[in-house]
Amino acid sequence: MLEIFGPVPSRRLGQSLGINTIPPKHCTYACIYCQLGNALHMSTQIREFLSPKELSEAVKQRLEEVKREGKRVDYLTIVPDGEPTLDKNLKELILRLKEFLIPVAVITNGTLVGRQEVREALLEADWVSVKVDAISLDIWKRIDRPHKDLDLEVIKSGLLHFASQYKERPTHLLMTESMLVEGVNTSSEELERMAKFINSLS
Ligand code: SF4
Repeated sequence: MLEIFGPVPSRRLGQSLGINTIPPKHCTYACIYCQLGNALHMSTQIREFLSPKELSEAVKQRLEEVKREGKRVDYLTIVPDGEPTLDKNLKELILRLKEFLIPVAVITNGTLVGRQEVREALLEADWVSVKVDAISLDIWKRIDRPHKDLDLEVIKSGLLHFASQYKERPTHLLMTESMLVEGVNTSSEELERMAKFINSLS
């Protein structure tokens, strides 16, 4: 399964060519609002999925078509139907994509950034978005329904560690995204905690 889609207009990324890098529904979370539904293959094990070489060849082919169609691509965006950092070959894929001289974006839930190999991969991307849906343990469990092996404190310290490393790459952009679910993570206390944490990521 090779899925390259777009370019589609993105509020944050301009014309974004989406790259689906892993089979559907492999994730470390089972968020209550997930558009993929409940049947997730939950895992925290990093492993091989699709071949980076085949994926980059598919992207190259699509870029040639896009050029013929007279369209432009502002970002190559790794945005699978699941969690992209579960892919052991993420760094190799990003490096291959960068050969097209178009910035590479990765949209991740950020749960595995405590692991060095994940940080090393994400540091190669030009734009990274991480999820911050909750700061309190009980609310995090309710909204993101994490895999049992995940630890919120490890995730938070991993995000801080990654942000401090990423900051040293001045042309790179770190973004966060938060899904607000009424009655779950929308209390003013939790929102303040989230804002404070996001602020600490700089
Ligand atoms: S992190 Fe994304 S893919 Fe994973 S369960 Fe949550 S919304 Fe779905």
